[in-house]
Amino acid sequence: MNKIKGLKCKECGKEYPATALHVCEFCFGPLEVSYNYDYIKRKISKEGICAGPKSLWRYQDLLPIEGEPTVGLHAGFTPMIHAKNLGAELGLSNLYLKNDTVNCPTLSFKDRVVAVALTRAKELGFDTVACASTGNLANSVSAHAAEARLRCFVFIPHDLESGKVLGNLIYKPNVIAVQGNYDDVNRLCSEVAGEYPWAFVNINIRPYYSEGSKTLAYETAEQLGWNPPDHAVVPIASGSLLTKIAKGLAEFEALGFVPAVTTQIHGAQAEGCAPVASAFLEKRDFIRPVKPKTIAKSLAIGNPADGFYALKAVQGSGGIIEQATDEEIVEGMVLLARTEGVFAETAGGVTIAVLKKLAKQDRFRHNDVVVAYITGNGLKTQEAVAANLGAPWHIQPSLASFQQALVEAKIAGVQT
Ligand SMILES: *Cc1c(COP(=O)(O)O)cnc(C)c1O
Repeated sequence: MNKIKGLKCKECGKEYPATALHVCEFCFGPLEVSYNYDYIKRKISKEGICAGPKSLWRYQDLLPIEGEPTVGLHAGFTPMIHAKNLGAELGLSNLYLKNDTVNCPTLSFKDRVVAVALTRAKELGFDTVACASTGNLANSVSAHAAEARLRCFVFIPHDLESGKVLGNLIYKPNVIAVQGNYDDVNRLCSEVAGEYPWAFVNINIRPYYSEGSKTLAYETAEQLGWNPPDHAVVPIASGSLLTKIAKGLAEFEALGFVPAVTTQIHGAQAEGCAPVASAFLEKRDFIRPVKPKTIAKSLAIGNPADGFYALKAVQGSGGIIEQATDEEIVEGMVLLARTEGVFAETAGGVTIAVLKKLAKQDRFRHNDVVVAYITGNGLKTQEAVAANLGAPWHIQPSLASFQQALVEAKIAGVQT
């Protein structure tokens, strides 16, 4: 028996073999990996996980690969920070940050999904990998393709942050900047995927790719001493990450690794691209696509593939979805850095801004365990905050010049 049963349509339930397919031929619903959980249950244990590698591959038994991992061996198992300073400002004694700003190798949560996707792409015999990206995915596919010696094409919107563009070019893939937004890029890539026999990680091998996000839920539970949190605050782009956090927690409960899961999952979007948040607010059960206009470019998907499922996951958990303006995003980035020493990108600013709103709305009790997902690194989106941070003191290399600057700066508690 194999741990992977096959692919299964999320809408009509029709089953397919575990190949490079992502859409149901009958109802056009998305396909998802289905597993033989009885088989997995006999193999997996908490002890086995604890003795495993300090990477997401400690959960290999719950990931959609048949052999051993071959790509991205160091992704995942990022720090869980007890955020006491930020918690004190927000009135929370058990606030935690899941810190994927230091994920390996490209400093975002995307290293999880790409490690799984490229290992699977190699298993399926592909020699070329590709993606449609809002930025971080392209960085991660480029780096992992270099490591795996696969030909690589990454498609990005033309107006990405310079750190993310450079973060592709350094690995020498084929970088295609498309004159359009992410939704245009994605549409183009669906056409390209129909013409060329390539593994598009978030298109034809999306069912495998998306499973990598479950590891954020597994790590959260394990790092909280095998307990689910009371609340999770999760950024939404395509909505895949959020739905897979719900799936990962449910799997851990079914395996008996954690007590009954009552986690309220809350979604975070930028106001300039909030198709899922507005559906939630207006109590619609369909997503109305929008044209993105936000500094949170990594979340700027106007027509999110898993938006509907993310909405259902939030509603089913008793959570809510909130939005943050560009100004609140910058404030969130600064607040996080100032209180916890974590420099997150704009998506992290969205998450922190929404966390702050939820705290203000009294959605949390003081002692609730709240986990905020910080999914990308601030060094990649410097232009978003550069104008808000002031400048260094410029002085001459003399003590007198320093002391004069100190007088001018009037720092509380410092004798001049
Ligand atoms: C891609 C991305 C997300 C969200 O991913 P989805 O699964 O598409 O919702 C969140 N944060 C960052 C930094 C990302 O790059």
